[in-house]
Amino acid sequence: MSTTAKLPGHPFIAYEGSALHVEGVSLASLAQEHGTPLFVYSKAAMLNALAAYQRGFAGRDAQICYAMKANSSLGVLQVFADAGCGFDIVSGGELMRVVAAGGTPSKIIFSGVGKTRTEMTLGLKAGIGCFNVESEAELDVLSSVALGMGLIAPVSIRVNPNVDPKTHPYISVGLKGSKFGVAHENALRIYQHAALLKGLHVIGIDCHIGSQITTPEPYLDAMDRVLDLVSRIEAAGIPIAHIDFGGGLGINYNDDTPPDADALWQQLLAKIDACGFTGKKLMVEPGRSLVGNAGVCVSEVLYVKPGEQKNFCIIDAAMNDLPRPAMYQAFHAIVPLALTANPAAVYDVVGPVCESGDWIGRDRSLNTVTGDHVAVLSAGAYCMSMASNYNTRGRAAEVLVDGAETHLIRLRETIEDQMRGERCI
Ligand SMILES: *Cc1c(COP(=O)(O)O)cnc(C)c1O
Repeated sequence: MSTTAKLPGHPFIAYEGSALHVEGVSLASLAQEHGTPLFVYSKAAMLNALAAYQRGFAGRDAQICYAMKANSSLGVLQVFADAGCGFDIVSGGELMRVVAAGGTPSKIIFSGVGKTRTEMTLGLKAGIGCFNVESEAELDVLSSVALGMGLIAPVSIRVNPNVDPKTHPYISVGLKGSKFGVAHENALRIYQHAALLKGLHVIGIDCHIGSQITTPEPYLDAMDRVLDLVSRIEAAGIPIAHIDFGGGLGINYNDDTPPDADALWQQLLAKIDACGFTGKKLMVEPGRSLVGNAGVCVSEVLYVKPGEQKNFCIIDAAMNDLPRPAMYQAFHAIVPLALTANPAAVYDVVGPVCESGDWIGRDRSLNTVTGDHVAVLSAGAYCMSMASNYNTRGRAAEVLVDGAETHLIRLRETIEDQMRGERCI
C-alpha cells in the first residue's frame, strides 16, 4: 500500500509513496518525457480555486474575470473560458489570446493605465464588455475613438480607495501617489465628465488595491470607500450597474494564511447589502489566487557546489523562468520529486544565469545530488507569463494535467524560435 502525503496549500500535489504527483501523474515521468525546466499545472486545482469564488457569488448576478496576466498560456485560458469565466486583460495582445482560446469577448474587461488607440479600436471591434478607464485623459481619447467608429464604449472608472498604508503596508497600487486609477476625491467629478462624453456609456466602477493580500481588512476598508462613492455618483444622476472589485487575493507561498474567497465575499456582500446595493452586478478580477498554487516548475539539479560560506544547488531553471525571487525577493517552496532518507544540507538554490540576482531559494534544506529533480512550488502565477529569453535561454515547456491525462500546452522554445524575426546586418 502506498501512502499519500499532501503538501499544505496544494490539495492536488502530493507524494504517492516517495514520488511527487500532480493529480494522477508522476512529475518524474513528465520530466523524463518532456525535459526540464517544465511547468506543470493541475486543472483540478484551477477549478477548485475558481469554485471558491463561485460559491461566494452563488445566487448573485456576478462575473468572474480571470486576470490573465498571471498566466496567459492558451491551455490555461481555455480551462477558465470553458468554466464560464470572463477575462481581465491589459493589452491588445491579451485580447487576441482570449479570442484564440475561445473566450467570450462580451465578458472581457480591459484594464491598464496606457491603452493605445489601436488597442481601444481592437476592443471596440471585438465588442468587449467594459473598458476600465484609469485617467481623465483616457476618457476623452476612448470617447473619440468610439465616436470615430460609430460606437459607444462601455466604461467603468478605476478609483483609488487610498486604503491606509500604515495598517496595510503591502498594499502597493491602491494608494495616493500610485500610477493606477483616479484619486477617490476626484472620482465624482471625473464620473460627471465621463457622463457628458458622447462616445461613452458609464456602466460601472472598479478598483484593484494590490496583490498577495492575505487579510480581509484592506478589502473591507476599500469596499466601504467604493460603496460611499457609488452612493454619491448615483445621487448625481449617474447610475452604476456594476461594482468590479479587482483581484489581489493572496495564496499560501510560505505559511501564508489568506482568507478563502467565499469567506471573504461573505463579509463583502454583507457590506453591499447593507448599502441597499444587493441587485448590482458584481465583478472580480482574480489572477494569482486562481492559478498560483495550481502550478509547479520541475527542474533538474545540474551541480551541487559546496562552499565555505554557502552551499549552492545549481538547477536548470533560472530567473528567466521564475522571475519572482529576483524581482520581488519572493519565496517559492522547493521540494524534491523523490523523497529519500539521506541527510539534508542547506543550500542556496540558484539558476545558471549570469547574475547574482539569479536565485530561486535561499538557505533551503534539501538532500540532493546531481541529476535529481526538484519542484519549485506556487509557480502557476507570474512565472511563465513573465518569463524571458535572457541569456538566450528558450522558455520552458508547459503541461496541463487533468486527472490521469496530460496535455502538452506549450512546446519548449527552440533557438530557431528565439532568432525568428532577427536579421544580420
Ligand atoms: C494584476 C491585476 C489583477 C490581478 O491581480 P492578482 O493579484 O493576480 O489577483 C486584477 N486587476 C488588475 C487591474 C490588475 O492589474
